[in-house]
Amino acid sequence: MALIVQKYGGASLATPEKMLFVTERIIKEKKKGNSIVVVVSAPGDTTDELIDFAYKLSKNPDEREMDMLLSTGEQKSIALISMALIDKGYKAKSFTGAQVGILTDKTHTKARIIKIKGINKIKEALKQGYIVVVAGFQGITEEEDITTLGRGGSDLTAVALAQALKADTCEFLKDVKGVFTANPGIVKDARKIDVLSYDEMMELASDGAEVLQNRSVEYAKNYNVKLHVRGTFTEEEGTIITKEEDIMEKVVVSGITYNKKEAKISLLEVPDKPGVAAFIFKKIADAGINVDMIIQNISQKGTTDLSFTILRKDIKKIEGVLGEIRKKLQFKKYLIDDKIGKVSVVGVGMKTHIGIASKMFKALADKKINIEMISTSEIKISVVVREEKVEQAVNAVHKAFNLGQKALSVEK
Ligand code: ASP
Ligand code: MG
Repeated sequence: MALIVQKYGGASLATPEKMLFVTERIIKEKKKGNSIVVVVSAPGDTTDELIDFAYKLSKNPDEREMDMLLSTGEQKSIALISMALIDKGYKAKSFTGAQVGILTDKTHTKARIIKIKGINKIKEALKQGYIVVVAGFQGITEEEDITTLGRGGSDLTAVALAQALKADTCEFLKDVKGVFTANPGIVKDARKIDVLSYDEMMELASDGAEVLQNRSVEYAKNYNVKLHVRGTFTEEEGTIITKEEDIMEKVVVSGITYNKKEAKISLLEVPDKPGVAAFIFKKIADAGINVDMIIQNISQKGTTDLSFTILRKDIKKIEGVLGEIRKKLQFKKYLIDDKIGKVSVVGVGMKTHIGIASKMFKALADKKINIEMISTSEIKISVVVREEKVEQAVNAVHKAFNLGQKALSVEK
């Protein structure tokens, strides 16, 4: 008999029909003789709707009250799923985050879990044969204020419970069948990935559609909780996310992601002397703006050109900051380009394999796609191209690495 944590996302709970399907899926697992803890998100787009509602009443909603509001979405799901299970003749019991004592710090809307005080309550209910249904995304502070764990935070609840319960598996049931080598919406032969390391998952998620909340993957990595992302509406195995050492067949490249959320900022003729970059990026950081890629060109006549990318949503904010910086540094001018896209290849095999970057660049060159910026990490290479070339670029790189076929192993 195994102890299984199953997390169902909002899209799998959007309608009564989908909830009934989820109920059957839970029962199937229970019938195998397993102990089941179910973690659920709010149904469908509930959280977005609640946020919109709040912003209709307040320009800057109070964060404590925001958490009070948002936690209601998950509370709906636990009650409905438990009712449905009971209706089918099973013992089920719902718990809010507070009821199982998910103790967090006081950072409303993105609280951190400190510990789970009520884990014995869950164990006791499991012992009595209950299917335990826990509200994701929420916790409680020492002062008994309700908190939430950041968008997508139900994933974190599931990982934290799996860790605390020493569960045999932590499954994420989603409306997609797993993690893919590229977005199947744009790459026809994108393939489901069998196994990924935590780091690869985080790198893949930091750009494209977030399959799992990144904080939850980080938590899983820290505590070594093996994750399984799979489809709600299929029996097929999905994607296992585990520690790198446990991956027998390491592939060179696991997947390709992209985003069209960034803008490129260029500062022309910036004085080239010590302390300038520190000054510029300190100002930008102080404004709460995240910088992604940075390049600095060869210096000419004591000046240099500096380009970097930020999220497009921060463009308005950065204009003010750049104005201020310019007063101090007297650079020539700045350019804002919001028609860029970022394409990245990710794979642990890059650590030991050479030639990945050149292969990627060649694939782009063959399609006459110009690379505007490049950045690399140990397991990722990213390039900036024109926004309208992104789909073509992703397809070209996917093909160059043969990702449509069974993955290429790194030879030892
Ligand atoms: N309902 C919350 C959200 O939409 C938490 C979650 O879905 O995991 O962000
Ligand atoms: Mg959600």
